Amino acid sequence: MTRTHTSGPDETVAAGRALAHTLSPGTVIALHGDLGAGKTHFVRGIVEGWGGSDQATSPTFALLHEYDTPRGPVFHLDLYRARSAGEIWDSVHDELDAPHGLVVIEWAERFPELIPSGARQVTIEHSGEGRRTITINP
Ligand code: ADP
Ligand code: MG
Repeated sequence: MTRTHTSGPDETVAAGRALAHTLSPGTVIALHGDLGAGKTHFVRGIVEGWGGSDQATSPTFALLHEYDTPRGPVFHLDLYRARSAGEIWDSVHDELDAPHGLVVIEWAERFPELIPSGARQVTIEHSGEGRRTITINP
């Protein structure tokens, strides 16, 4: 387990970038944390870390965004508004099995049955004004 403290959005992006440098294709990352914790900023860093030039934005209404990077696609899901595991499965099951890319899932805890057991668990918590604590499990 590693724990990082950030004191602004840019530092949370940088933490995502640093993690991405260590990730191999096929990795699933389950992101936990309240609304506004900084999950989407962390994903922005992951995309940057794989050399992508798109700026990740919240896929709350789309369920899924896909970002192309030189190392492979980054599939970014947000389950906040998803109604059922069936809905998710029908629309994104191909992407959830992405040996060539990364899958990053916000609000993964809403549908734990969909999250592969080998997923990296990342939790972002508020720790004061503008500060966050990021915990990454292997
Ligand atoms: P989430 O996806 O978890 O809902 P976002 O990344 O969309 O969160 O938004 C995080 C919000 O918190 C942004 O408005 C950002 O400016 C603010 N913020 C303040 N401090 C931090 C920090 N240390 N890390 C990340 N975001 C921060
Ligand atoms: Mg978000």
